[in-house]
Amino acid sequence: MNILVFGKDGQLGKAFQSVLTDQKLGEHRIHYVGRAQCDLSNADAITNLLRETKPNLIINAAAYTAVDQAEQEIDLAYAINANAPAILAQYAVKEGATLLHYSTDYVFDGTKTTAYFESDARNPLGVYGKSKAAGEEAIEKVFAAHPNPQAQFAILRTSWVYGDGGNFIRTILRLARERESLKVIANQYGVPTSAPWLASISLAMVLDENHQLRSFPSGLYHAIPQGETTWYELACFSVQVALDAGADLKLRPDRIIAIPASEYPLPAPRPMNSRLARSALDALMNQISKGSDVTKWQQWQQSWQEPVADYVQDLVLHKRS
Ligand code: NDP
Repeated sequence: MNILVFGKDGQLGKAFQSVLTDQKLGEHRIHYVGRAQCDLSNADAITNLLRETKPNLIINAAAYTAVDQAEQEIDLAYAINANAPAILAQYAVKEGATLLHYSTDYVFDGTKTTAYFESDARNPLGVYGKSKAAGEEAIEKVFAAHPNPQAQFAILRTSWVYGDGGNFIRTILRLARERESLKVIANQYGVPTSAPWLASISLAMVLDENHQLRSFPSGLYHAIPQGETTWYELACFSVQVALDAGADLKLRPDRIIAIPASEYPLPAPRPMNSRLARSALDALMNQISKGSDVTKWQQWQQSWQEPVADYVQDLVLHKRS
């Protein structure tokens, strides 16, 4: 089998490289591709790469993710987040391939008071969210227009991703070394998602125990760990774990000040509620892990705190924050 992974230098792409290496898929040819090998804003480059590599499984971990900059770079955001996924979907339906694509809580406006279901209407607030929503719609449209029983897709919506790269937790730990007090937004709700956790759950979804493609219902899936939190709580938790792990910080959790989002204006609007209900993937993971893979089920049932604590401890231990 040929596996093509886009976004090799991003948080999720790096996590895929590490998880796929751990799984020792020696019998498969895996192509990891970054911006230098294929610029996703260039449709011809994508088509040529697909022709050369002939993937049976495409993992699209690349995206235009600069949320505030997207307000200025609208065409570029749409080219990468909407047009590129459409081309990948066209290849998948033509060749009978599997497409694994990632999306975001930002496709919702965040006004719902409970967790969003996969079936809830999209209503993105900013350009980034709109371009990601357009990518979701493009994939759905291509698959609906060209039914091929061999082809399948999963769009995994996730939130608050952290891994090997820039993210909120790393920013907080850097600021915690520099400052004695810090204001953090306390009225935006979501779930921190570890990139390796997400890569591992994604692979469990698409590959069986023999590392062959499994079939699953094409569609939207919400992929986040259990629980929920706010940026403020996540900051307090991360700082406390770092202190417990021996980090030399000026900041203490009791000097983190909870503020409303209105006190921290940013160029792009963010959803106040990023909670995603896990029902679709819950059913699938239950079916997949029934009897055969208890570890995967336990991983799926993990709450956000444990992987965040592991991540922070690792950053402190290796002085990477
Ligand atoms: P990153 O920003 O860490 O990585 C994105 C990758 O996409 C980068 O390696 C970047 O390349 C690559 N990329 C950007 N533009 C192009 C281009 N024109 N051609 C080729 N590659 C390009 O993102 P994450 O790993 O955190 O995100 C993974 C997925 O999860 C994305 O779909 C994102 O929308 C989604 N998501 C992320 C969240 C988060 O908090 N980070 C939250 C919710 C969803 P380069 O390294 O060269 O810049």
